[in-house]
Amino acid sequence: MSKLVGGCLCGSVRYSSKADPALTAVCHCKHCQKQTGTSFSILVAVPKGSLKIEGENLFVFHDVGDSGLSVDRHFCRNCGSPIFSDVKAMPDLDFIKAGALDDASWLQPQMHIWCSQAQPWVNIEGDVQEFDNNPPAG
Ligand SMILES: [Zn+2]
Ligand SMILES: [Zn+2]
Repeated sequence: MSKLVGGCLCGSVRYSSKADPALTAVCHCKHCQKQTGTSFSILVAVPKGSLKIEGENLFVFHDVGDSGLSVDRHFCRNCGSPIFSDVKAMPDLDFIKAGALDDASWLQPQMHIWCSQAQPWVNIEGDVQEFDNNPPAG
C-alpha cells in the first residue's frame, strides 16, 4: 500500500496516490510561505492522474509562477489546508503539499528550491541539492 495518503486538517478532503514520489523537494519561495503560513512547503511530485481526491471541499487559487504560467493551488475551503498544486510549467506532475500527509516522516527531500527567498533562520542541512530558484530543466 502506498504511503502517499493524507488529508486536510478538518478531514473533509482525503487523498492518496499509489505512485512513488517522482521528486521530493522543499520549496522556500515566498508564494509557498504565504500560502502555508510557514517558512517553506514540502512538495512530493507524483505523475499526473495518479492522485485520487475524495471530498467536495477542494477550492483552487489560480496563482502565477515565476515562469509566467499558472500554478493552481488547491486547498480545503473548510479549513484552508493546502492539498496540491497543478504547475503548468511541469504538466506531467501534481505537487502534493506533504505537510498534509498522514505520515511524512519517511520522505527524503532531494533538493531545496528557491533558496534565494529562504528565511535566514532556516538551516538547510544534509546531503541535498540547493537551488537559488527552480532547478534547471531535465
Ligand atoms: Zn479541511
Ligand atoms: Zn514554492
